[in-house]
Amino acid sequence: MNQQGRPTRPTGGNAISTQNGLGIAEPLIFEQGQEKRCGVDLPPLPEFRERLGGLRREGTIGLPGLSEPQVVRHYTRLSQMNFSIDGNFYPLGSCTMKHNPRLNEKLARLPGLADLHPLQPVSTVQGALELIDLLAYWLKTLTGMPAVAMPQAAGAHGEFCGMAAIKAALAARGETRIKVLAPESAHGTNPATAAALGFVVETIPANAEGRVDLDVFKAKLGPDVAAIMLTNPNTCGLFERDMIEIAEAVHAVGAYFYCDGANFNAIVGRIRPADLGVDAMHINLHKTFSTPHGGGGPGAGPVVLSEELARFAPLPFVVRDDKGFRLVEHAKDAKESIGRLKGFHGQMGMFIRALAYMLSHGADGLWQVSGDAVLNANYILASLKDVMTASYAGPCMHEALFDDRFLKDTGVTTLDFAKALLDEGFHPMTMYFPLVVHGAMLIEPTETESRETLDGFIAVMRSLAEQAQSGNVELFHEAPRQTPLRRLDETLAARRPVLKWTKGQPK
Ligand SMILES: *Cc1c(COP(=O)(O)O)cnc(C)c1O
Repeated sequence: MNQQGRPTRPTGGNAISTQNGLGIAEPLIFEQGQEKRCGVDLPPLPEFRERLGGLRREGTIGLPGLSEPQVVRHYTRLSQMNFSIDGNFYPLGSCTMKHNPRLNEKLARLPGLADLHPLQPVSTVQGALELIDLLAYWLKTLTGMPAVAMPQAAGAHGEFCGMAAIKAALAARGETRIKVLAPESAHGTNPATAAALGFVVETIPANAEGRVDLDVFKAKLGPDVAAIMLTNPNTCGLFERDMIEIAEAVHAVGAYFYCDGANFNAIVGRIRPADLGVDAMHINLHKTFSTPHGGGGPGAGPVVLSEELARFAPLPFVVRDDKGFRLVEHAKDAKESIGRLKGFHGQMGMFIRALAYMLSHGADGLWQVSGDAVLNANYILASLKDVMTASYAGPCMHEALFDDRFLKDTGVTTLDFAKALLDEGFHPMTMYFPLVVHGAMLIEPTETESRETLDGFIAVMRSLAEQAQSGNVELFHEAPRQTPLRRLDETLAARRPVLKWTKGQPK
């Protein structure tokens, strides 16, 4: 047994998987395999020496040899070590980890769609182009915006696209404006996008309500401001009530209004960003319109654009004429385009899933999605605010924000709290983001969770809060106990990641 109370796994040439109940400790495939073993019977090699001009390999290449069931079990076990939305409740704030309907998966796997190749002649992919066009139509309809750029592979990529279009529009006006304003609660991708495009980011503080401080914001506006990047609903889970006033002020100084639409799930079917004066906004298909996401991908980040910005949209894009659908792919056919941001048309698998999600819900279904997402978040907020500390007064949108004031003087931190939640079988909420509150815990249930699941989560959170307040610090400091590995050195893992296995390397 090791210090974690788990059987120590054998190391060296022939390790086998060990488990504690169903908690799997899985050795690397290199530790399980034997170099001289082969999982299948192959006929003896013919003598190739002559034909390869004497270049035949002399030694082994060190690949592990395992039987077929060993291989299957290894990868199946690894897949089960990954916490997933199919395993249990995943309340990660800012990520919209909703259930991904199996219908979407079925449609994405239809051979006519799954076997497409982006270099096929356009005449053979008319259906696929129509699908992209139809999805674009619904994105424009739901946002009220006249145009949408489809190729971007993630929300952050969408931000880059929208802000590059804004930069191009300014250049077309003969202007170079260097400043981009972003609230201090903004997702890190907002300032990163602005900086990547050469803008200087200036932060707008939040007021006591957790929203943009309008007076400070207006004081920062001037002829050097290119754009504001504003998330709505914002990352504190609150609706920015002054959107129209903000848009008018931004436009009055000749700047653009970029909206981070990652939280569109909270307002889809209810509010059209166009009516709020937005010039460009990305939509994370992988958040609002289901589609699996995690581990950094895959995603899809279409950007809706105003009439003025549409002519700078990236290549390629789909157009329809009397002969059918075709692609505009070359700079000579779209002279003002910002060019290609991605190899091909976009994330086709995501497009299919997102369209399937939209069409199976219908307009009234999407209206209900946002309503239920907001209701579920408020249910959590209302059920926990007597034992935890809610950061802002009043109801929230799709996510509930708490800070660590309720843990003051307990010796328990937000991180400890999140680790203890792992032992209860839940994925932790988002921790320490947004940065505007101390020790943030951001909880987003989404609309797909049942009352029973929410009640189970609430009961666990209440009990943990009570344990922390009654001085049961051990419980937190020893957590997680029920995971294959316990507390990892997260700083070292980020700073000096070991991405390659070397034989005999210490663990
Ligand atoms: C998720 C998110 C992003 C980034 O989207 P990716 O698809 O992860 O690149 C940007 N802003 C906000 C508010 C988000 O929640």
